[in-house]
Amino acid sequence: MTARPVLLVTGGSRGIGAATCIMAARRGYDVAVNYQSNAAAAAAVVASCKAAGARAVALQGDMANETDIIRIFAEAKAALGPLTHVVNNAGITGKSSPLAQADTAVIRSCIDINVTGAILVAREAARALAANAEAKGRALVNISSAAATLGSPGEYVWYAASKGAIDSLTVGLAKELAPAGIRVNAVSPGITETDIHAMSTGEAGRVDRIAPMVPLKRAATPDEIAEAVLFLLSDASAYTTGVVLRVAGGR
Ligand code: NAP
Repeated sequence: MTARPVLLVTGGSRGIGAATCIMAARRGYDVAVNYQSNAAAAAAVVASCKAAGARAVALQGDMANETDIIRIFAEAKAALGPLTHVVNNAGITGKSSPLAQADTAVIRSCIDINVTGAILVAREAARALAANAEAKGRALVNISSAAATLGSPGEYVWYAASKGAIDSLTVGLAKELAPAGIRVNAVSPGITETDIHAMSTGEAGRVDRIAPMVPLKRAATPDEIAEAVLFLLSDASAYTTGVVLRVAGGR
């Protein structure tokens, strides 16, 4: 029997991460679902993964915290076996405002998770995937944002800058890991229907406000973003590395 691929998704309990976990389980991956605080949401994702025939486990850990990051990689391996794929997804925006009105704490917490945390997750992914040298098709997908090139003026330019860092990380790490046969790509979503708008930006009506500005005239569903992530995880993209794939409805 061929071993099933083993995927860790950071921030897998809700939104794009949850859609990715469930779609991956349906396509034959075993899945480690990281979450920060919403244990019930993570448990629901694990149940959906198991219903699809996958092995799955929920792993609590703050992806801004190095100790937690290292621990969840170890726990994922202990529960499911050596990792073959990682999705570096956990992220926040912080409350929207022009930069001149932004609190230092809002900026720092965004950079701690979206930049420092994401780079540490990528480092642990590089270590874990390199250690699993005999596995085929190893891949890391980072979740960026169209904000990296739009700049998010008046909303959260610090968040846009954090995602610019993810794009650079993707290009460089792809070149570092290519000789080992490990691919690194990013998905850059446009506005997507998730909790992030009400819970992180503080603007519950943000999707309705932005959707008319999108050439396709609507927000993405989390499944539409997960489809791109699954493509970049899979052997269907075997010759693609160092790419930032924009999935933003033309925006
Ligand atoms: P979301 O619905 O707010 O879900 C965020 C997920 O990340 C949850 O599972 C949450 O866990 C987890 N999380 C948050 N902080 C964490 C931390 N410090 N450590 C571990 N997990 C943490 O977000 P989303 O909209 O799906 O966004 C996912 C990614 O896509 C982010 O990187 C975001 O920047 C990016 N993105 C989103 C959009 C959009 O319009 N939605 C557009 C472009 C890019 P809990 O359930 O425990 O809170």
